[in-house]
Amino acid sequence: MSERPIVIAGSGLAGWTVARELRALSSDRPITLVTANSGDFYSKPMLSNAFAQGKSPANLLQATGAAQAAKYDVTLMANTTVTSIEAAQHTLQVGSTQLPYGDLVLALGAAPVRLSLPGAAFICSVNDWWDYAAFRDRMSRAPNPAAVRAVILGAGLIGCEFANDLAGAGHSVTLVDPGERTLNRLINEGDSVRLQTALHELGVNFRFGKTARAVNEALDGSYTVDLSDGTTLAADVVLSAVGLQPQTALASAAGIEVTQGICVDNMGQTSAPGVWALGDCAAYVRGVMPYVMPLMTAAKAMAKTLLGTPTPIVFPAMPVRIKTPAYPLTVQA
Ligand SMILES: Cc1cc2nc3c(=O)[nH]c(=O)nc-3n(C[C@H](O)[C@H](O)[C@H](O)COP(=O)(O)OP(=O)(O)OC[C@H]3O[C@@H](n4cnc5c(N)ncnc54)[C@H](O)[C@@H]3O)c2cc1C
Repeated sequence: MSERPIVIAGSGLAGWTVARELRALSSDRPITLVTANSGDFYSKPMLSNAFAQGKSPANLLQATGAAQAAKYDVTLMANTTVTSIEAAQHTLQVGSTQLPYGDLVLALGAAPVRLSLPGAAFICSVNDWWDYAAFRDRMSRAPNPAAVRAVILGAGLIGCEFANDLAGAGHSVTLVDPGERTLNRLINEGDSVRLQTALHELGVNFRFGKTARAVNEALDGSYTVDLSDGTTLAADVVLSAVGLQPQTALASAAGIEVTQGICVDNMGQTSAPGVWALGDCAAYVRGVMPYVMPLMTAAKAMAKTLLGTPTPIVFPAMPVRIKTPAYPLTVQA
């Protein structure tokens, strides 16, 4: 199988990092990268502090897919969706083409959890550069683009980071969460209260213990968000940050073992020989770790293994900096 290419599915940080690590070790093995988007390269963590950095969506793009492909000598199949994997034949289906692989690296990411409520179509979520560009475009079309009214659903890491970034840029932010405090799954109550106080001083309003029941579009193109306590919030944009769901459907349909993510062993190999997974789609031996440092660590070890030196993935301590400059915090991944 080694004359067949290593096929990487997905061009987020995980996909491109594997390509980079492979090329750092070898220029011989052909690599094909298949991705549902253009393959353009950007750093996802920068999306939730773009205002603080003074960056527009265009400024956040670091390289085109074509430039990345040339840099790492990769055959790029952009705007191409993998529709099935035939693990026994070592092939995958992309459109009407059957693509053979020697090894297949699944770097498919995770999809935003979609809320099921009336008017859900008016709700944005930001999980990639294209989502973010659409979100900023929507903000620019508000009656007063310098002071946009944003309702953010979910006071976890992504919701709090966007709340800080938008409020810091002069926008009016309300965070809605069914729980009683910010980041309740990641930090202790004391830090949570201090973060909330700091965000409140920046102008963020909180509606804890509430959920959105419906989003309605007004005649002027703005929205109202009906909350579970019967109150209503006016908004120019509604952003959902209620969580991500690892992309497991392709693997599952191929008979590959899946739990919360695509299960991999300590080398990053799935239950199908020659099929590997990392990044937000993977469930490592330690579980799902949807952060940058775990995928970088996995990519480094996996590249060695794919090129013939079996190398276990050993995760070091992996601090995650929460980008809330109003009250900066670091947690362990
Ligand atoms: C706003 C935000 C801020 C964050 N900040 C931080 C931070 O500060 N620190 C940190 O450690 N982590 C942070 N994270 C998490 C981190 O960015 C992610 O863990 C990481 O970027 C995931 O990369 P990935 O390549 O696994 O997934 P993705 O970037 O989601 O890439 C998945 C790729 O798979 C492709 N794909 C999916 N399905 C198919 C298919 N069927 N066929 C072909 N291609 C397909 C997609 O097009 C995409 O190219 C943040 C996340 C968000 C959303």
